[in-house]
Amino acid sequence: MPGMLIPGDLERILKHQQVAAADQAAWTDQHFCRSDGVKVLTRDGLMQIPTITPRLTDQGCVFWDKGRCRIHAVSPYGCSHYDSHMGRDEGDQVTRHGLVAIRHGAEAYYATWNQLTTQAQPLAERRARYNEIHRQLESPCSSESPST
Ligand code: SF4
Repeated sequence: MPGMLIPGDLERILKHQQVAAADQAAWTDQHFCRSDGVKVLTRDGLMQIPTITPRLTDQGCVFWDKGRCRIHAVSPYGCSHYDSHMGRDEGDQVTRHGLVAIRHGAEAYYATWNQLTTQAQPLAERRARYNEIHRQLESPCSSESPST
């Protein structure tokens, strides 16, 4: 599932994709959406940290193309820093680290977040949709079944 960006990720992706300065706002809006993010418990109480993620299309992540990630070399923090072998504690630690980075770079990050026009579905729905897309893409009978 598309992972969250942290500050600096978008700039690297724009450079990698060679998006002209004049096109960056529109391109960013076509490829990313704003998410409610996650709730975290801090010393000051419960806090919501919104995040930016790649868009999810009917084919999966907007950057997934013919079995490859088009931005693999500069993929978002939430993609590049997790793997399926991680235990829960390790995964939580990576998430914490990313959220701290977002809070430190919050001004520019949320300026972008505010300009995005697409709101991501809640995480649980996104996860379910992503799993369904995966299931369909991997199923040998995912397209048309022969008529009998
Ligand atoms: S295609 Fe790339 S950006 Fe999209 S979820 Fe996969 S690794 Fe992340």
